[in-house]
Amino acid sequence: MGDLADDVRNTIRDVPDFPKPGILFKDITPVLMDTALFGRVIDWMAVEYANIDKIIAIESRGFIFGAPMVEPTGAGLVLARKPGKLPHTVETVSYDLEYGSSSLNIHTDAISPGDRCVIVDDLLATGGTACAALDLVQRLGGEVVGALFLVELGFLDGRRKLHGTPVTSLVRY
Ligand code: AMP
Repeated sequence: MGDLADDVRNTIRDVPDFPKPGILFKDITPVLMDTALFGRVIDWMAVEYANIDKIIAIESRGFIFGAPMVEPTGAGLVLARKPGKLPHTVETVSYDLEYGSSSLNIHTDAISPGDRCVIVDDLLATGGTACAALDLVQRLGGEVVGALFLVELGFLDGRRKLHGTPVTSLVRY
């Protein structure tokens, strides 16, 4: 068993020009197919956060890493979803992507004032998506104690958009 970051880096697949020309897509699906490696990733993610109330998982690959963190952290899972998906009353924020624009919704009753929240996604690129999630949590009175990613495209400096929120990532490019 090698170093976890190296093992993940060596397992991620680079797909050039997806979904648009000029984007080098970091495909994490081979990590999910490796049972032992996926398990080690979740152990690493969960150990970072002992004292949190809510995991804010960003649609859709954030769901994959957020859901298995529920048991080891004891935190509740909150879905930050694309428009038109959540059935109850939502708070909404629009944002720019590395390739396009979108908005994110969270159920207004999913976060209680003072909740300690961690934002989770597969990859931090420009930071627009995570910034929208941060904005949503703060509007509902929650405290974002961290933002957690499997992969960080450091050259895009997405951290800067998170206004000092502690950012943790396993593999950096
Ligand atoms: P951003 O808002 O720019 O930080 O983009 C983050 C979101 O877009 C994440 O949910 C990623 O899954 C996805 N994403 C952006 N760029 C890439 C990339 N180069 N490879 C894989 N996923 C990406």
